Amino acid sequence: MSSPPNNVAVIGAGPAGLMVAEVLAQGGIKATVYDAMPSAGRKFLMAGRGGLNLTHSEPLPQFLARYREAMPHLKTAIEAFSPQALRDWSDALGQQTFVGSSGRVFPKAFKASPLLRAWLRRLDAMGVKLSLRHRWSGWDEQGRLRFQTPDGAVTVEAAATVLALGGASWPRLGSDGAWAEILAAKGVQISPLRPANSGFTVAWSDIFRDRFEGQPLKGVVLTSGAHSVRGEAVVTRTGIEGGAVYALSAELREAIDRSGRATLHIALRPDLDMKDLIAKVSVPKGKQSLSNFLRKAGSLPPVAIGLLQEAARASGTSLASMSQPDLARLINAVPIELTGTAPIGRAISTAGGIAFSELDGDFMLRRLPGVFAAGEMLDWEAPTGGYLLQASFATGAAAGRGALKWLNP
Ligand SMILES: Cc1cc2nc3c(=O)[nH]c(=O)nc-3n(C[C@H](O)[C@H](O)[C@H](O)COP(=O)(O)OP(=O)(O)OC[C@H]3O[C@@H](n4cnc5c(N)ncnc54)[C@H](O)[C@@H]3O)c2cc1C
Repeated sequence: MSSPPNNVAVIGAGPAGLMVAEVLAQGGIKATVYDAMPSAGRKFLMAGRGGLNLTHSEPLPQFLARYREAMPHLKTAIEAFSPQALRDWSDALGQQTFVGSSGRVFPKAFKASPLLRAWLRRLDAMGVKLSLRHRWSGWDEQGRLRFQTPDGAVTVEAAATVLALGGASWPRLGSDGAWAEILAAKGVQISPLRPANSGFTVAWSDIFRDRFEGQPLKGVVLTSGAHSVRGEAVVTRTGIEGGAVYALSAELREAIDRSGRATLHIALRPDLDMKDLIAKVSVPKGKQSLSNFLRKAGSLPPVAIGLLQEAARASGTSLASMSQPDLARLINAVPIELTGTAPIGRAISTAGGIAFSELDGDFMLRRLPGVFAAGEMLDWEAPTGGYLLQASFATGAAAGRGALKWLNP
């Protein structure tokens, strides 16, 4: 197959890749966006199911700190395409945003589909071409891009290429991390792809698992080492997941890597201090069962009481034999032994990816001149809260500017 001269290939039609194409089009380059899937932005649409948390409204220094070690590498890109710029961009596509009570920013429609539809329409009007069902599988001997399509193999010559292939979570949405092997074979250093914002495995007893699978623990505070997060956790068949767990997932994953296990402490009544909690569990129980008593006196839901029983059992004791102060202490520091990280396929995002040392300041791969990379395939991670999409959009915009500079030095 022949390709138009000066063809620019963007591979990956997620938020990062589509933003690359938009910046290129604004600079006069009508790129072709290739994607393995039959439609664009599948993970973006999935993110929309939770309301589409586009970005966060906190001050920029705090915002940038969420990227931890990767912050210095993302700072310039995020300053150039800031959370406010992302909100303005959404606005211009007819999707006004609002700041939720937690400071998170969402489109008013609270979903991704109207935004994606409007964006694809605008890209089309700008001359951007979409080539779907094109699975990139590397380069041929002449340096041309190779794609697998339903009609067979296709090769494409590109004056510049931008890779925006995403991470490795939720592979059925298109991003499976297969690119890591292709780039590693070219000598590009890739930090191992690991689950981020993920759940963890716990060896629940059969009785607890069968009774409480799927049940949420709301308004709890989770602590791992020096870090505490207030939010929600959900009991799963194999362990625990949910927003507050995801927020601690980087620390917990690293602890498990170091020692094979990690302990998470859950405060079930975080708004009560120890004195009040002891007073609550010290009122006479009468003829009530301990579970009923804890439900009423401690205002604890059955899943929380199950968790207390599980923790007591694991330490070889029972709730009934505990003193009131010990019971109160347990309620606000239930230890949960995590035995492993849930598989990457179920994680919200991916840690690891192309090492920043492989990229120049324009997001071009130093070893592969004319090849740029953006989005979740780079080696950064961040908590949920809009930081994932913000960095994907911002690095997409930066790689697009980099490619323009490369094409028009
Ligand atoms: C359930 C869920 C909820 C989420 N909610 C939020 C949220 O509310 N806020 C937030 O900030 N983030 C959220 N995220 C994360 C966010 O969606 C991602 O960080 C973001 O989509 C990454 O953008 P990207 O463009 O880098 O990659 P992707 O969106 O993954 O896009 C990459 C594209 O590349 C294509 N591709 C991959 N390999 C190939 C190949 N070999 N050939 C051709 N095409 C290929 C894929 O099909 C895909 O379309 C959520 C993620 C999940 C799973």
